[in-house]
Amino acid sequence: MLRPFADYPVRLRMEEGESLAGYLRRFHAANGHKMPRELYNGLRALYRGTKSVSGAAFDVVQATFGDAVTIDRSWWLGRPSQKGIPGGGSHPSAWLVFQLDPLRLCPACLQDGGIHFALWELPLMEACPLHHCALLTACTTCSRTLHWQDCLPDWHCQCGVPISAMPLAPPKAGALELARVLANSSDLTLPQAYRAHFTASDGHQYRLKEVYKGLEWGTELRELFSGRGTLLGEPKAKPRPKKERRARWGSWERRLIGDSTDKLIARLVRAQSKHFASPQRLSYVFPRDSLSRAKVFVRESAPGVVQTKIQKALDHFLADYALEIPLSLFVWFADAKHSEKRVVYMRQFATWWAVLASRLGDLDPTMQRLDLALAQQARTQDASSHEVHVVDVLNLLFEGARQQLDVDNFWAFTYWWRIPPALRDASDPEELFRRIGLHLASIPAEEIMFVLALVQRAHKGEC
Ligand SMILES: [Zn+2]
Ligand SMILES: [Zn+2]
Repeated sequence: MLRPFADYPVRLRMEEGESLAGYLRRFHAANGHKMPRELYNGLRALYRGTKSVSGAAFDVVQATFGDAVTIDRSWWLGRPSQKGIPGGGSHPSAWLVFQLDPLRLCPACLQDGGIHFALWELPLMEACPLHHCALLTACTTCSRTLHWQDCLPDWHCQCGVPISAMPLAPPKAGALELARVLANSSDLTLPQAYRAHFTASDGHQYRLKEVYKGLEWGTELRELFSGRGTLLGEPKAKPRPKKERRARWGSWERRLIGDSTDKLIARLVRAQSKHFASPQRLSYVFPRDSLSRAKVFVRESAPGVVQTKIQKALDHFLADYALEIPLSLFVWFADAKHSEKRVVYMRQFATWWAVLASRLGDLDPTMQRLDLALAQQARTQDASSHEVHVVDVLNLLFEGARQQLDVDNFWAFTYWWRIPPALRDASDPEELFRRIGLHLASIPAEEIMFVLALVQRAHKGEC
């Protein structure tokens, strides 16, 4: 049976924002004791949050406090258990296991207040948002890991060096930004020193749970790419069992939060040029491809602390690169480094096309309706190869404009093909290109094959 707090001569109060483990250790140290092993074991169960044992552990800790301190039952026991993970059982999600051992702390904060903060125990909290340094988990002098049971009273490492005097180290990439986001959560009790710097009162209130859900969403996004590398530059890796993957979250999720929108876009561009390098101006991926699936996943997700930022980066990327034509393929300009360059390309295309289009006959509206009907009947046949041919024709036309090919080369094409009048209006080059794509997508498979053959002949100089 543990000795209740009421029986100790020195009864320190728990400070605001102080961690449970830190308070228990401070309390016992003030009375000249180490934290009892039984109490420490109870804390371990409570921090891990395993449903079957954490309830009993909570009762042990609360009974020790008596009336002196009331710990928040929902904070410690309200964590949802991990579902759908083999062997996950009643354990909480990896995101929701609080860090007990090794202990994490900021030497500068410790020097100011002398207490251990609950903030430092949060999953993925690896930097001090106030002092912009990494949180320590090992002694900077003897390199020993900092364990609760081994630390000397008054926050000294077992080698005798005071933790508050240890040098500050720079945080890992993205760790500081994530620490800031966590510290600004509306449901976190902050230490006094943090109050003036972190507040979620700017109208964008969110709870800790939302941040971690957002990070978990980031892991799902990454998993869409497992097996072929990832969207944002993680090294290629073989798919791992889900449980193991969850346990490894960290650097990628930190970067999702830490990177600026521009940096995220730069990563997207690098990823697409690395994985989809193509000599053609217009690249495409099939809907089943990882990049298409990730795009849909990001676009269709509800907004959130992490999600909104990635959604914005994707929107910018699509605005600069994607060709929005009604195909199931995801089509984009592989070499338009930014929108200004694309505008130049498009103008060049429109001027060249105007000359070519002046030689193309008008498509009779009745014929156009017949075309549409025929195309709709055949659409179910092999939609994806039809769409690939559409992109092929667009690529060849676009390339023809880039190379300023002589329109005389397109003699057979201009002789055989007819276009609806809407395809002659070049006042908005981007819209013109989109209309051509739209029209190509709507004609029967036989016609697109024929058009493709004609345009290919022109490129080869065979008319
Ligand atoms: Zn600090
Ligand atoms: Zn040491």
